[in-house]
Parts: sequence; structure tokens; C-alpha cells
Amino acid sequence: GQTRTVAASGVHAERFAGQLVLVTGAGSGIGRATAFAFAEAGARVIAVDRDAESATRTAELARLVGAREAWAEAVDVSDEAAMDELAAKVRQSYGVVDVLVNNAGVGLSGSFFDTSTEDWRRVLDVNLWGVIHGCRLFGRHMVERGEGGHIVNVASAAAYQPSRLLPAYGASKAAVLMLSESLRAELAGKGIGVSAICPGLVNTGITSTTTFVGVDAGEQERRRASSARLYGRRNYPPEKVADAIVRAVVRDEAVVPVTAEAKGSRLLSRLSPRVLRA
Ligand code: ADP
Repeated sequence: GQTRTVAASGVHAERFAGQLVLVTGAGSGIGRATAFAFAEAGARVIAVDRDAESATRTAELARLVGAREAWAEAVDVSDEAAMDELAAKVRQSYGVVDVLVNNAGVGLSGSFFDTSTEDWRRVLDVNLWGVIHGCRLFGRHMVERGEGGHIVNVASAAAYQPSRLLPAYGASKAAVLMLSESLRAELAGKGIGVSAICPGLVNTGITSTTTFVGVDAGEQERRRASSARLYGRRNYPPEKVADAIVRAVVRDEAVVPVTAEAKGSRLLSRLSPRVLRA
């Protein structure tokens, strides 16, 4: 184990002692905060991101906040062969993943008619296929082991709140939400929980990585800046989403809206009756 330099003060300290937790998109924002939250709870953490440097940094910091062990893996979740290789390597080197957090995602903003086939493919490849690969590859290992486990998929309030500028992003997240609920039903008898987390506006780097389609470079910059301001004003920290993710695993929650916008929609009540209305 690693020396703790920061006392794990959270309510879940030691709750995940020795458990293997893999987080995708762990290089920044919600993913990084989630890696830290499980680290503080004593987990062994695998930080996966397509950006090697930020994944490595997350793993280093995770050790400082209490992870028994932490590793970084540079993998693009949309690449099936790379994910397959990662799953085999993880099982061989570290063991079966107890908690999988499929968090990696990309933002895309623009009207339906401005969204090209290529744009659709990119957002579905990462946001949906990345989750499919993760659930299939790591979920299978959980099933084979027969000792349970938990999968958390980070969806979005955009999964059930239609927005004029988020047809592709919203569709990708709606698919993740229903995939999660269906898989939850399928795995219920096997002691494997599946949760979908639906954040609204969270103050992360996603505003700087979102692609705005159908606008020129200047307008793209303006929209980026104005959404960064909006997210900044809401100022909902990724750490609170990470806490909701840890709680979803501990309490085996099905669908968890986080942030005021995400909880506010009347559409929420049309979802599974297991949706939490905290
Ligand atoms: P948020 O935390 O709100 O999702 P961020 O943009 O801060 O927003 O974080 C998303 C993370 O996901 C980034 O670290 C990014 O590098 C990572 N990511 C994006 N696409 C992929 C991908 N295809 N494979 C792995 N990681 C990815």
C-alpha cells in the first residue's frame, strides 16, 4: 500500500478497501473526481483516458489521496480492439474489476441539420460505443467470476430533457440511459448492479472540449465562452457528481439525477419508477 498523505475523511472511508475500480475519462472533470473519491475510500484505481498524461496525473494524485494502488492506462474507449486488450491486461495484471465507471464522453452542440454524419459517428462512437465496450468486456468478467460487482454509466440530464442544440449528444446519452436500465434488469439476479448518473450543468472541462457545429470559428469561441460562463455561474463541482457515483454503488441506485436542472424535469417521472427524486 501507499502512505496516506491526506486522511480519508469521507463517509465511505475504507468502504472500498482493496476493491478494484476502473474509471474511464479519468483524466479530467467528473472522471478524475470519481477516481479520487474511490481512492479516498481505499480502492485500487485504474485511471483510463485517451490522454496519457492526464491519466498518469490522475493516478499519481489518486495515490496521494489514499488509493491502495493506482495505475494509468491510455486507451480510447471507442476503439474496441484497444478496449479488448485493456480488459485482458487488467484481468491478468490486477484482477476482475469490482466497480466500472464508464464516464468518458465528448460534447457536441449544434442543430440537427448542422450535424454531419461524421459528427454523429464521433459522438456515438465515444458516448455510446465506449459504454457498450466497457459494459460488455468488463461486465463479462464480473459475470464469470460470480461475485457481483457494479457498473456506473455516466449519462446526462440531456438523456431525458430535449434540447434544440443537443440532438446527437442527447440521443447518445438517452441510449446510455436505456442500455443501463436494461442491463440492470438482466444482471439483477447475478448481484451486479448497474446505475446511470444523469448530471445537468457541471463545472468541468467539457465546455472547452465541446464541438459546436454549424458555426464559424469566431462564433464557436463565443459559444464556448458563454457556456463556460453559464457552467461557472451554476458552479456545480465535479466532486459532488463523484460523491453521487460512490453513493449509487453503495446503495445500488438505478438512475440518479444530479444538479438542480437534472432533477427538475417533469420528464424524469416518465422514467423507471426506480428513479431517485432526492
Ligand atoms: P466531463 O467531466 O464533464 O465529462 P471533461 O471534458 O472534463 O468533461 O472530461 C472528459 C474526459 O474524457 C477527458 O479527460 C477526455 O480526455 C476523456 N475522453 C474523451 N473521449 C475519450 C475517449 N474516446 N476515450 C477515453 N477518454 C476520453
